Amino acid sequence: MSDILSLKESVLVYLDRSGGLQRLGEDCRPFNEPQQMEAVYRFCISVNPSDVIEVDPELGDCVLQDPLTATALFQSVCFLAIKTLSLLDKIHTESQVNVILKFTHLPPFPEYSLDLCSFPRGNGAMRPVSMEGLVIAITRVTKYTQGARFLCSDEECPCSAGFHHIRVHAPGATESATVRNDFICRICGSALKEDVKFRVLGDKQLVEMIHFRALDLLSAHQQSSLRYQSVTLFLRDELCNSMRIGRLYRVLGIPAHVHQWPNITWSVEANSVKPWEPEYPHEVSVSFQQLLNVTSSSRWRFCAVLSHCFALNVAPPGLYNTLKLALLLSLVQNRVDEKETFHNLDLLAVTTDSLILDRLMTYSLQLASRGVRHQVSGEMFASLSRDGLGSGSANIHAGSSLLATGGVCMLGDLGGYKKDKLDAIQSGRGSKRFIPQAIRLFNA
Ligand SMILES: [Zn+2]
Repeated sequence: MSDILSLKESVLVYLDRSGGLQRLGEDCRPFNEPQQMEAVYRFCISVNPSDVIEVDPELGDCVLQDPLTATALFQSVCFLAIKTLSLLDKIHTESQVNVILKFTHLPPFPEYSLDLCSFPRGNGAMRPVSMEGLVIAITRVTKYTQGARFLCSDEECPCSAGFHHIRVHAPGATESATVRNDFICRICGSALKEDVKFRVLGDKQLVEMIHFRALDLLSAHQQSSLRYQSVTLFLRDELCNSMRIGRLYRVLGIPAHVHQWPNITWSVEANSVKPWEPEYPHEVSVSFQQLLNVTSSSRWRFCAVLSHCFALNVAPPGLYNTLKLALLLSLVQNRVDEKETFHNLDLLAVTTDSLILDRLMTYSLQLASRGVRHQVSGEMFASLSRDGLGSGSANIHAGSSLLATGGVCMLGDLGGYKKDKLDAIQSGRGSKRFIPQAIRLFNA
């Protein structure tokens, strides 16, 4: 017991030092409006694990290893602070305080990072991990129950009034774990009934994320036997709409098993989302720099030599030099930066012999930081499917164009496309809403 007390004391010290107590006061203010009357009140508390460890290593360990227990400690301290400082009179019981711990970062150790290629499918502890990946599908924002108030059906029981039975959403829980009609009173065992007017709804969005190396398969000419499995992320409340299809993110989240009879799915409850870029080597080789030096007497010589030497093993020397120069220029202007969206070079080449052109473009595609070779049988633009995780919404899947965001999408021989596809490509090029701005079309 004394352990719990000392941990709570450390929570209070941390909240005081980090400015969390002050923020709690500010967050309570909007709830003080007379018309605001809810079963639970949600507070996000920013947690810097290094600072927590400095205050109390035991509490730091609890935050990182067992965030649900840590959340309960913070919840208890926040309730005491709210009551002691009279921040919010409407809160009557501790269970009405819904605390969400928001991690600022995680320690840079292997046990806190999750490779989406080899994620553990066993019954591991529910602790936060960091992962990086590409968004390939997303749902609309729908509602979920943040919290609900239940009353005992026996009028003699003290639980027939007040806020004794409060249910709050926990990571990995389904809607039926929060709201159901077969809950039983802890005191007398009678059935509980939800007081619907106190239900608190929040926003949620489901996102499919995959290891960014899965893109390598899309640039390949041949179909590979490799398969990548995506993972479902749950974005809630302030995290909704923080991710876009085709972009790369680093996500801190808590993996959880979602039980939906008869299935169990492995998913991640996102805690923080930040845009992410893998590190690419940017070093220019010595021989390349030497070439630049020896050709510096003429402004064209360097480009001419490069165009001549580029892709010599896939095209006959001396031929297609203009196209090769265009391909090089197109590759140079290969950026993800949104501000540079119009700095792209689209290529359309017309020829009677598409074989060498196809080889040249396929070769170039491998050099792009992100290259997607569109398959005629695949979807060029976004497509819809029914969401399998019971959100009642549709899943929007990225087509080749969205997967190529910030990179190059190679269409291949346009002669193989039907008229409606060609029209869609043409209208898509005109409408920046459908095609990501930073897409280039290589048309052989
Ligand atoms: Zn009862």
